Amino acid sequence: MAKFTAMTEILNFIDGRFSAADSGLWLDNIDPSTGKVYSKIARSGASDADRAVKAAKAAFPAWSKLPASERFSHIMRLADGIRQKSEAFAKAESVDNGKPVSLARAVDIPRAVSNFEFYAAAAMHYASSSHYTEGVGINYTLRRPIGVAACISPWNLPLYLFSWKIAPALAAGNTVVAKPSEITPMTAYMLAETAREINFPKGVLNIIHGLGGEAGEPICTHPDVGAISFTGGTETGKRIISQAGMQFKKLSLELGGKNPNIIFADCDFDKMLSTTVRSSFANQGQICLCGSRILVEKSIYKRFREAFTAKVKELEVGNPASESTRMGAVVSEGHMKKILSYIDLAQQEGGRILCGGNRVKLEGELSGGYYVAPTVIEGLDQQCRTNQEEIFGPVVTLDTFETDEEAVAKANATPYGLASTIWTSDLNRAHRTAEAVHAGIVWVNCWLERDLRTPFGGVKNSGVGREGGFEAMNFFTEPKNVCIAYNQ
Ligand code: NDP
Repeated sequence: MAKFTAMTEILNFIDGRFSAADSGLWLDNIDPSTGKVYSKIARSGASDADRAVKAAKAAFPAWSKLPASERFSHIMRLADGIRQKSEAFAKAESVDNGKPVSLARAVDIPRAVSNFEFYAAAAMHYASSSHYTEGVGINYTLRRPIGVAACISPWNLPLYLFSWKIAPALAAGNTVVAKPSEITPMTAYMLAETAREINFPKGVLNIIHGLGGEAGEPICTHPDVGAISFTGGTETGKRIISQAGMQFKKLSLELGGKNPNIIFADCDFDKMLSTTVRSSFANQGQICLCGSRILVEKSIYKRFREAFTAKVKELEVGNPASESTRMGAVVSEGHMKKILSYIDLAQQEGGRILCGGNRVKLEGELSGGYYVAPTVIEGLDQQCRTNQEEIFGPVVTLDTFETDEEAVAKANATPYGLASTIWTSDLNRAHRTAEAVHAGIVWVNCWLERDLRTPFGGVKNSGVGREGGFEAMNFFTEPKNVCIAYNQ
């Protein structure tokens, strides 16, 4: 276990220094594996946000004028700093979030390191375009950083998603005011400690803690913030768009999902089965890319249902800190109640629970923890609330289809469009279905494969804009066309 006590204070990091919130107030930080408070979080407000934005604004001219090679070295040192303490980061992420430590070790922390490394390199390779215009001369596109960027992230993949925003913002030459979710702030605090240890330039990266409405909103609406990169729920995204959109800030919004997993009878059954267990329940189903609606071709439905349910029953819910655990705690009591209420709703809507469906009570110190059994439900149509609304927990529904058209129609039958998985051995069908599905990301015969150069984001209520690769560098810069006429 990470060595945090109830006295550990998660402080703001402004202009290279740590400070409590101006209000002097604190929030409790709860370990979801036990339900007990294990540290305190600065409960920041508008004045803290204002100090952070002022520090970022003052640091912008020097940081944005640094040669790309120097920004590269600073960001690489941040990546190295995390890598050197990766075990401590992984343990802290597991305690803060409830996720199995093995997952934090294999996914969250290494991917956070590679986010910084990738964008450090991107700073060196980023180039803009030019266009020759016959009879006139040449147009070239100047791409300059925006200024102060706000980076707001959720609790499910805390450091991983935090770094996914901060790294490109810094690489493009912006300074940053970032806020992690108050539910999982520990690794963001450790990132700030790392920045201080390596003497990262003061004011370039500022991290504020506290509640979304109290600390996040004043950052997003601050007149000196030019761009907002937000990942979180669709309702919060709407609120940010309604406020910051009116101020004409640049917005990138990665929002909720209700992803379909389309399984055709001609797929590689064994590979599909083991991956589908993972894509349903990894991180207790709390990954925006998890497939929560499993659509199976009718001819293999019975076989699938049997095999899938048997494998899910083998998933043991346990202590996140234990090396062997693959299903840990969900993130908070409130979230656990939300998940359980959706399981009740599914039954009211006529769903049959094939396995799970209940809170799991563990022994001893873990008896107050927030554990939910992996749950599989069948017998619901795609229009019911259980299949329309994001649950974001270890709950999946099963449904069938008979034709390719029906599969696509069911896949597209929600207001969301983040990711989709397709299982088939027919190349034509794979391409056709990938094109027809409303989603920003499609995996065929795989799930969660990651190439940092590819565009990442959703359509419909799943968001606006794309992260990843040079898409993020484009977002964090403002293009300016310069037209130069010369005698030809
Ligand atoms: P929320 O929308 O509740 O919160 C996200 C972040 O925004 C948190 O840091 C939150 O702070 C902050 N926040 C809340 N209100 C405001 C506001 N008015 N202004 C500025 N910031 C605010 O999402 P969750 O943390 O509950 O995360 C789960 C959601 O994230 C799910 O819907 C999931 O689908 C989505 N998600 C999307 C991904 C994608 O790539 N599309 C990836 C991962 C998750 P605080 O928590 O302190 O209130």
